[in-house]
Amino acid sequence: MSSLYRFVLFSPTLPRGPDTGDLMAEAVHKLRCAHCRSEISVPASYQHGDHVKCGSCGMRHKVYRGEGTPRLVIADVGPLREALQANQGLTDRLEAELRHARGSFGVGVNGFGVALAYALWQIMRNDHPIDSGLAWEAAAVAIFTGLALEAANFFFLAKRQRLRRLSTEIDEARAEARSLEQKIREASRV
Ligand SMILES: [Zn+2]
Repeated sequence: MSSLYRFVLFSPTLPRGPDTGDLMAEAVHKLRCAHCRSEISVPASYQHGDHVKCGSCGMRHKVYRGEGTPRLVIADVGPLREALQANQGLTDRLEAELRHARGSFGVGVNGFGVALAYALWQIMRNDHPIDSGLAWEAAAVAIFTGLALEAANFFFLAKRQRLRRLSTEIDEARAEARSLEQKIREASRV
C-alpha cells in the first residue's frame, strides 16, 4: 500500500555547502494514518518504536519495522480498547434487536389473514341472493381484501428490510471490531 519515494532536498545543479552532502537525498516513506488514512511522511531514518503524529487528526503512532516497508501502528491503545468495548455493546444490542424482530416475524400478517378469513366466512354463511346488495358486499370485500393484502405486503416488506438492515449493521460492527482488534494486536508488538 505504501511506497518509497526519493526525496531530493537540493538540486544537484545548485551550489551547496560542504556539509549538506548527506541531505542530498533522504528516503521518505509515505504511510497512512491508522485512524484517518491521511498520508504521513516518515523519514527512513526513523527506527522501530519511534513516535510519529498524524498532521491531520493528531493521532500518535509508533513506527513498526518488520520486513519490507515500515508501517505505522497506533501508539495509545486506550481509545482503541474503549472503541472496541463500545463496538461490542453495539453488536450485542443489534443482535438482541434482530432476535426480537425475527421472533415477531409474521404476527401482523397472520392478523390480516384471520380478519380476511372471518370476512369471507361471514359472506358464505349469510348465503346472499344475487342482487345489488351482494354486488356491494363483494366490492366491499374486494376493497377490504386488497387493502389487507397491501398492508400485509407492506409490513412484510418493512420487516424484511428491517432484518436485512440489522444484519448489515451487525456485519459492519463485526468488521469494525476485527479491525480494532488487529490495531490493538499490532500496537502491542512495538
Ligand atoms: Zn490521522
